Amino acid sequence: MTTQNPGFSTLAVHAGAQPDPTTGARATPIYQTTSFVFENADHAAALFGLQQFGNIYTRIMNPTQAVLEERVAALEGGTAALAVASGHAAQMLVFHTIMRPGDNFVAARQLYGGSVNQFGHAFKNFDWHVRWADSSDPSSFESQIDSRTKAVFIESLANPGGTFVDIAAIADVAHRHGLPLIVDNTMASPYLVRPLEHGADIIVHSLTKFLGGHGNSMGGVVVDGGTFDWSKSGKYPMLSEPRPEYAGIELHKTFGNIAFAIALRVLGLRDLGPAISPFNAFMILTGIETLPLRMQRHSDNAIAVAKWLKGHAKVAWVNYAGLNDDPNYDLQQRYSPKGAGSVFTFGLKGGYEAGKSLVEGLQMFSHLANIGDTRSLVIHPASTTHRQLSEEQQVSAGAGPDVVRLSIGIEDPADIIADLDQALANVA
Ligand SMILES: *Cc1c(COP(=O)(O)O)cnc(C)c1O
Repeated sequence: MTTQNPGFSTLAVHAGAQPDPTTGARATPIYQTTSFVFENADHAAALFGLQQFGNIYTRIMNPTQAVLEERVAALEGGTAALAVASGHAAQMLVFHTIMRPGDNFVAARQLYGGSVNQFGHAFKNFDWHVRWADSSDPSSFESQIDSRTKAVFIESLANPGGTFVDIAAIADVAHRHGLPLIVDNTMASPYLVRPLEHGADIIVHSLTKFLGGHGNSMGGVVVDGGTFDWSKSGKYPMLSEPRPEYAGIELHKTFGNIAFAIALRVLGLRDLGPAISPFNAFMILTGIETLPLRMQRHSDNAIAVAKWLKGHAKVAWVNYAGLNDDPNYDLQQRYSPKGAGSVFTFGLKGGYEAGKSLVEGLQMFSHLANIGDTRSLVIHPASTTHRQLSEEQQVSAGAGPDVVRLSIGIEDPADIIADLDQALANVA
């Protein structure tokens, strides 16, 4: 691409890709191969020793995956990225790179239910400990930090409540204590919010959601912001100390502003193994080409639906940051002026039973545990995604018993509203 400073939509179509040098294929090919032939023995040795970048084995790196990585890094404004098998795998590799047994990190309580489980239960097996804070109160993060704290973690747009978070204020807290801010940008996507511009250091995504966008492929990605000093505090030995398996290389010293992405790949992905398949990388890459068009349409449809629901007699409340009387409206305007995204929650006057009955009466909406599909989706979090949490945890995560979550698709808004209208008519 020769354009100087290409815009977001141009990057979404072109970043990282070029016609295949051997065949001229214009779309990025699916390099469906496990391994790559070395030019000679010295080339092989240089690749294994990290003296030269190149393809060895698809668990570590693959050309289809590489285009996806370069594209997402460009869209987020980062220096490098690593694509993996799922959003949860991305989070796993991030913490594997920065945590030692006995360490802790501070995370917003307002997170995707699966992340609450991963952090609160699975990570305990590694002796990594999460401390919960309130995403609407930056000082609640500060009071949880101690000498064993290694990072701060938030979602830019919190799932499932659809609330925007003051990224810059929480980045200030993290940086005052010499810690990186990790932001899960899945719900907003870089079309709506670019957390690196507000002080975040690392971005994680579930590619499964809006970036892939079509509900057909699992994937995850980590973007390295390139700004964090991994050597300063001595708290991140995987990045700052000599690596025995690579002839004593110090990753941060050697690779500078892409050191974190390198560590994720050559220590995390290599040894833990959650590689993305080339086919899924291709599907997600294709999805990303229309990200700007889809995200705008998702947001435009969602505000229309939220306004309509708000006027409905059976609806108790609507929680959508795009509504100008929403308590979160100012943060939405500041961080995401193009729109408030696709996902939001509302409550029915009839509570738990009415919510269940609505979900069952919808016809075009699909009742399933996903967001960020072209299709409109609905779920009752308390009985599904957030079922494993206590009622108190459910309420503080924005997933109390009466809450219905919508992920508004890109269909005609009149048809989305018509489906809700007929289903609401049948709710007692
Ligand atoms: C889905 C999701 C994840 C987990 O991603 P998977 O691809 O399902 O592993 C993490 N964070 C958020 C905000 C999500 O919506």
